[in-house]
Amino acid sequence: MPFSRRQFLQASAAVSASALWTPRLFAAGEVLPGERPVRDPRVVVENPQLRVPLSFIIDDSTCLVNLAHFAIPQFAQVYPENYKQDWRKLPREIPDSFVRKFSEWCHERGIKGKYSIVPFPACVGRIDRELPGWTRAEQEASLQLVRDIIVPDWDIHPEMVTHTWIIDPKTGHPHPERTPKFMENFRWADGRSVDEIAEYMAYALKILKNVGLPCEGITTPGGFGNRVLPELSQATFQAVRDVHGAEIPHYFRHLFTDNTSVAPRVEYASGLNTEHPNCVVSIVGCTGDWFGGWDGLEPGQTGQFISMDGKDGRLPEVIQRGEPTILVCHWPGLYYNGEEVGFNIFKEVVARLHANYDNLLWMKNSEIARYWAARELTSSKREESSVTWQAPYACPQFTVRIKEIAVPRNQKISYHRGDQSQAFTPVERDRDLKPGTYWWEGADLVACFSLARGSSRLEWGR
Ligand SMILES: [Zn+2]
Repeated sequence: MPFSRRQFLQASAAVSASALWTPRLFAAGEVLPGERPVRDPRVVVENPQLRVPLSFIIDDSTCLVNLAHFAIPQFAQVYPENYKQDWRKLPREIPDSFVRKFSEWCHERGIKGKYSIVPFPACVGRIDRELPGWTRAEQEASLQLVRDIIVPDWDIHPEMVTHTWIIDPKTGHPHPERTPKFMENFRWADGRSVDEIAEYMAYALKILKNVGLPCEGITTPGGFGNRVLPELSQATFQAVRDVHGAEIPHYFRHLFTDNTSVAPRVEYASGLNTEHPNCVVSIVGCTGDWFGGWDGLEPGQTGQFISMDGKDGRLPEVIQRGEPTILVCHWPGLYYNGEEVGFNIFKEVVARLHANYDNLLWMKNSEIARYWAARELTSSKREESSVTWQAPYACPQFTVRIKEIAVPRNQKISYHRGDQSQAFTPVERDRDLKPGTYWWEGADLVACFSLARGSSRLEWGR
């Protein structure tokens, strides 16, 4: 069943209302990469610490409100045939006790990713004002929990404003029209300009800012923006930079479960040699929601992610390629109306990953975005015993391979910026690489360091 569903998703070019995340696979319009610097072919930027980045994307989470319960009857107004779930039997709340349990379990295992906070979930109430159905104290406690235990390991994204009806930013109320054109998931963004989309995104981003939640990126609800991909990308940059001052805004809109690359896409890069470099990064998921569905009614399967022996399934396939392996789920499906079906699948997936691989590195979406921006936008110039970098962005864990260096191995490897310098220490195995260390693989020098913004230099043999 999950397989045929996936095939259906790949084949689906039109906006389908059958699932919130279905239309992510639609691609249209031309998104531009922008500038690229000169890079020396004898210098390769590798994955951070030579590991494969992993990240967990959680959609449709917010404070207390079970989005599925409230959204289904609203979706059904537009597409009655596609939303026949008995939403009344879904709980109206996903409790904070589950948020705590989940995030503590993840924190103990070093798991990182993205956690949505839908700012005005299904028009129930704004998280920065009143959340009808809960007391002020419950609402405050829920926000505090997010600040304390989610923010350290997870990026916070809005998923537009309501994830259901479009609101009028001038009044703060939903538009009266009940058509796909006035639903965030469906057709509102069609034909709109960068500025119009950015204004709408800014409304969502400000609500998160009002409650002290930092934000470097956006998640698109369902089919939002899939006919205006260039505008979506640029609007993300504009809104996230304006409202939250993020240096490298990013967004989650695409996921692929076929052979399409799932490497992040660094878009609209400009001003690389100025004090104000710009770019926006598209973070790409590599799985469908095979946990518990977006509504918490469709149980997934561990084996579709990874088999018991760690050899088969979608995750080993992407890990083999060395591309960031970014899993996608929905919060109501993890909770699964209290049965925690999705969470239990996730636990087993993590157990299998950690048992079978020792080269994985959990990262937030923003950390992956930064790494890929630095990887693609840092210029390198190799000379006899040095490489000079010109970096628009700083990057911790920057890991490079300098090919075929012919020097005795006991010579000094060091990093220089201005009048500061740092000597690196050697490690015995690639797995031990961390910032400030290096490793020889044959004649190649692999060095890991915290790349400084601006000009800097790696030296060897002197
Ligand atoms: Zn969503």
